[in-house]
Amino acid sequence: MSTISNPSGGRPYLAIPGPSVIPDSVLQAMHRPSPNIYAGELLTLTDSLVPDLKAVAGTAHFVAIYIANGHGAWEAALMNTLQPGDRVLVPASGRFAIGWSEMAAALGIEVELIDFGTAAAWDLNRVAERLAADKTHEIKAVLGVHVDTSSSIRNDFSALRAVMDEAGHPALLMADCIASLGCDQFEMDAWGVDVMVAACQKGLMTPAGVSFVFFNDRAAEARANLPRISRYWDWSPRANPQEFYQYFGGTAPTHHLFGLRAALDLIHSEGLQQVWARHAQLAQAIWAACETWGQIDDPEQGLRMNVTDPSLRSHAVTALHLPTPRASELRHWLEQNLGLTLGIGLGLAPPDSPEWHGHFRLGHMGHVNGQMIMGLLGGVETGLQALKIPHGSGALSAAAQVLAGSKPR
Ligand SMILES: *Cc1c(COP(=O)(O)O)cnc(C)c1O
Repeated sequence: MSTISNPSGGRPYLAIPGPSVIPDSVLQAMHRPSPNIYAGELLTLTDSLVPDLKAVAGTAHFVAIYIANGHGAWEAALMNTLQPGDRVLVPASGRFAIGWSEMAAALGIEVELIDFGTAAAWDLNRVAERLAADKTHEIKAVLGVHVDTSSSIRNDFSALRAVMDEAGHPALLMADCIASLGCDQFEMDAWGVDVMVAACQKGLMTPAGVSFVFFNDRAAEARANLPRISRYWDWSPRANPQEFYQYFGGTAPTHHLFGLRAALDLIHSEGLQQVWARHAQLAQAIWAACETWGQIDDPEQGLRMNVTDPSLRSHAVTALHLPTPRASELRHWLEQNLGLTLGIGLGLAPPDSPEWHGHFRLGHMGHVNGQMIMGLLGGVETGLQALKIPHGSGALSAAAQVLAGSKPR
């Protein structure tokens, strides 16, 4: 039996990489009876979401809203740009890129995966070589994940765009920003991204169930050239609605819209630059603690970050290793004793293998601040002590130094 019990005596903390913590203002906005869906507040509110979503994405072009999770947005992006037999190139840095490519393959799209493993960013030289070899432009789109939530690698879309431009390759550039939007800097138009998918339950702080496909004129042209498209996934009426119901292809996801409005209000009142800066600083505090925990005589016995180069690390999620089965033991102990839930490892080992219990993730996306991150790190420190997992000392102090060095806001 543990010495600390009754975690239900306080507020539990779900520190997984999505769904993220829901702000009270979002919860309150959703706690209401169903509104009229034909007139009134809901209609003006929905119109107001469009420019604010585009501002977060860094685009002046189009957004289609879907009543779906991120997988739905993945499928929508593919359905509006490609048809069976088309070829796509997928440079992969983790499980989510592979997942998107599997969805494309299931739609009859020819997938060329360049797998960079689970701890490396794209090697753009290899992408450049492949594009240069594609003289007849068989590749119709390049699909990439900005932050791969499984590995916590962050890839460089503006560099990928530069490589495509240098090769003079006309393929569409399509980005999955489901984990990064509203956390890590992303500039859709400035970075030359043609299609971007996102969902509401990570950096956008709203319960899962609504997702987005942002697209520009080049992507709209690809859509216009398709012979047919599923009525439901077609992005055209959603992005250019004549009637309110065309936003959603049917009944609006009423409560999600109220919640999303409140979440976007939070982002815009803080300021997007500051939102990014906050995520960067909190991530640095987490990295400082993790580095300190890892400083032991035999580092193989301790905690290790999956991504060694800080410039390639996401600011929204951190994937970590512990000797198996210590990661699973730590997660269980923290959930049962402290009311703190960490993310499972994903894509770093097969789910039915012993190694699966050697990985976990910290989510630090969306509605998080310094005291929550110090609570998260304090929790992990407590679990390491309770389970006698070897770890370096001074991790909390290292994290505190990062946060204490912050400029006043
Ligand atoms: C969460 C996530 C997804 C899947 O989103 P769901 O809403 O779970 O379908 C896809 N890609 C990335 C990068 C993600 O983080």
